[in-house]
Amino acid sequence: MAKKIIIGNWKMNPVDVKEAEVIAGKIVAGSDSLKKISIVVCPPFQYLERVGPIAKKKVVLGAQDCFFGGKGPYTGEVSPEMIKSMGVKYVIIGHSERRALGESDELINKKVGGALSVGLKVILCVGERSRDDSGEFLNFIKSQISQGLDKIKKSRLKNLLVAYEPIWAIGKDALHPATVQDVLEISIFIKKVLVDLFGREEGLKVPIVYGGSVDVNNCREFLTDGQADGLLVGRESLNPENFIKILKTANEL
Ligand code: PEP
Repeated sequence: MAKKIIIGNWKMNPVDVKEAEVIAGKIVAGSDSLKKISIVVCPPFQYLERVGPIAKKKVVLGAQDCFFGGKGPYTGEVSPEMIKSMGVKYVIIGHSERRALGESDELINKKVGGALSVGLKVILCVGERSRDDSGEFLNFIKSQISQGLDKIKKSRLKNLLVAYEPIWAIGKDALHPATVQDVLEISIFIKKVLVDLFGREEGLKVPIVYGGSVDVNNCREFLTDGQADGLLVGRESLNPENFIKILKTANEL
């Protein structure tokens, strides 16, 4: 069985690099003996250089976004090559908070292609804003996946993860976390979409992780009954004590 992967998304936190180092140090110290899981921490770009050496081997560095191009006149952007050169192995692309700032599926698709082409592992985030009885939200998720992965070669899929992050379950204003049943159903649905796009063999290999108000109390059931291949953790990844409890729970399974 593949290792479960637990990804911490720090978003635009903490406010200074010293605190980032403290949080990273605590996470690394608390996770040293956890051999059965993969751990990724995604600090803001500005902290990568300082968090990288603390993360060492057990905790792998991720970024929260990247641009698609190599270099050039793109003020303020950060390329896949740049983050790779800082030791980043994973990159979150298409997070709902970036989509809310105007990122289109077309742009996300370019970013996915750019990141995969330099060998980064891509965590493609998808998820509906709200649900409807007629199941229209499923078409929305399907379209995010098919557009986000348009023209991506099958051979690149080994470096892809899909994160199911329903917007209504994310952040401090969340209605509530998804249920285990939601996570299981949508994981199966996403697998079916991937199989239709890329074939059974490749499609079924893509890990599907869940994100949205994951905490110490609910993390186990998403990974067991929900059959998630991993978790994308926002707020609780900034609280080292709680994040370590989540990591330990995943490691025990
Ligand atoms: C996220 O935004 O990726 C997320 C999962 O946030 P939270 O865990 O805080 O809901």
